[in-house]
Amino acid sequence: MNDVSNQDKKVDNLQLYSQIIESSGEAIVITDAAEKIISVNRAFTQITQFTSADVLGQTPRMMRSGRHDRQFFEEMWASVTQKSAWAGEIWNSRKDGSSYPAWVVIRAVKDDTGNITHYFSSFSDISERMSAEERIRQLALYDSLTGLPNRATFYSLIKQALVIANRDNITGGIMFIDLDRFKNINDSLGHGAGDELIRRVSARLKTCLRSSDVIARLGGDEFVVSLFDIKTAADAAIVAKKMLATFATPFLIEGHEISISASIGISVYPDDSVDLDNLIKFADIAMYRAKDRGRNTYLFYANDMNVRSLDRLQMESDLRRALDRRELLLHYQPQANIHTGEMTGAEVLVRWQHPEKGMVSPGQFIPLAEETGLVVSIGHWVLDQAVAQNKAWQKQGLPVVKLAVNVAAQQFHPDLVNEVSAVLKEHELANEFLELEITESMVMNNAEQVIEMLKEMEKLGVRMSLDDFGTGYSSLSYLKRFPIHKLKVDQSFVRGIPGDENDVAITRAIIGMGKSLGLKVIAEGVETREQLEFLRAEGCDEIQGFLFSRPVPASEFVKLLDKDFRFPA
Ligand code: C2E
Ligand code: MG
Ligand code: MG
Repeated sequence: MNDVSNQDKKVDNLQLYSQIIESSGEAIVITDAAEKIISVNRAFTQITQFTSADVLGQTPRMMRSGRHDRQFFEEMWASVTQKSAWAGEIWNSRKDGSSYPAWVVIRAVKDDTGNITHYFSSFSDISERMSAEERIRQLALYDSLTGLPNRATFYSLIKQALVIANRDNITGGIMFIDLDRFKNINDSLGHGAGDELIRRVSARLKTCLRSSDVIARLGGDEFVVSLFDIKTAADAAIVAKKMLATFATPFLIEGHEISISASIGISVYPDDSVDLDNLIKFADIAMYRAKDRGRNTYLFYANDMNVRSLDRLQMESDLRRALDRRELLLHYQPQANIHTGEMTGAEVLVRWQHPEKGMVSPGQFIPLAEETGLVVSIGHWVLDQAVAQNKAWQKQGLPVVKLAVNVAAQQFHPDLVNEVSAVLKEHELANEFLELEITESMVMNNAEQVIEMLKEMEKLGVRMSLDDFGTGYSSLSYLKRFPIHKLKVDQSFVRGIPGDENDVAITRAIIGMGKSLGLKVIAEGVETREQLEFLRAEGCDEIQGFLFSRPVPASEFVKLLDKDFRFPA
């Protein structure tokens, strides 16, 4: 009875095993000790195209692709016999002769006395996985838009070229290429067209190069080229001219004829430097100088481009990219009623999240932005963002506030009125929720023109505030003629309160002056209670400073935007 049921169980198990083997997704091959195939499953036929009739009695060697040498199989068999198992990748060939990579596991099956009775091998076709890996490798090394090497690949390729150039005394060149006003095209025709243009540009650039030259895309509309097959630096100029010439024909994209030019900077190995980082940096600097010269031109790096410290130049080129790379952001510092602690508005202060240097304060980069003229586009961005943000908060139903935006001297010309009004209109923000901070020195130059402008602003209903007040030379009679709403006592005076007699006297005078002109007075840089109390006693209306809040990111600022919230005045 027991024997019979055991027997039944064995039969059941065998059927079960053979069903499992047959339905397995992996190819399975069983051979005897002499490696003669005695069984294969359905997946085997699917992967290899061999039927069981094709292979029974043969050895698995019939599937060899010829891609592995003898040593490979010797090591494989050594592992199977000594460790009873081997696993690895083998290129096998199918019945039609095509080969494919397989992930193979081979086991030796032994009897009770330890003699090998069978071999059992299972494998799967991993060509898909291999091509996925290949794609990943491709993505890591090449730019997906153009198929050109990316920055990392460029570096590793050029490092080798530099070693050879050094050994053989070769002259080389690095070119930095940047399209002129590419952003306009992206903005007006959309990113699809922008991408297509980048692809077509890269194809045209390639036609100017020899196979030994390397071109890579560094991102955006920036390309870098290495020329290590030139005799003199002048050869690099020939290549640059060729490149500029290929741009003479417009690109036809999505039915639009697009004309674009490029600016090219060139550094020369070994004259300018033997170090790749420096060569690229110098080419980059030369490229920006080419842009300053009016674009659509090339320029060699020259030492006198270096009169200002390299760090500063690096910072300058970083700042030029900061806007495109969305590295700028806004912080908001509350301004509060000095009597009630109620928030009356906030000053918008720009921040720069530099990829390596971290948060850079405007004190460091605004002067640079002013010197380079970048402050105009940065200022426009700040205005646009601040107005959009304010509108967004209002749409969310948060209590309304007035945001004060700093205006740089270069922005302060008659066009500003139109610019401001257009931005307000675009975001549908009521004009009274915008205040502009200008400085004394800005209104003192060109007074007549400024008065006209300020009158226009007044008509718009945009409020004007005089920042850093007291540091210039404003006379009372002068101030009377300007339609402004607010004086901001500069923090350098507030700092000395109450100890410094001079600061106390100046602050008192400014507050008195503001009152007599019917202006609101706000003190900035208020850090202590004593300062607060002094200012209140003197009749100051509002304060702004660390005592109540530092400038904070939007996410924190909204927490203060509660209609019942009060600073402890
Ligand atoms: P500002 O317009 O006079 O701005 C006030 C500065 O004082 C801010 O420095 C603010 O963080 C700081 N501050 C506020 N409260 C206190 C305090 O209690 N103690 C101390 N020690 N400092 C306080 P920040 O943000 O570094 O800005 C510096 C300057 O950069 C600004 O001076 C402004 O002239 C300029 N700036 C900032 N954002 C912009 C902008 O969007 N456009 C332009 N053109 N200039 C900007
Ligand atoms: Mg300010
Ligand atoms: Mg100020």
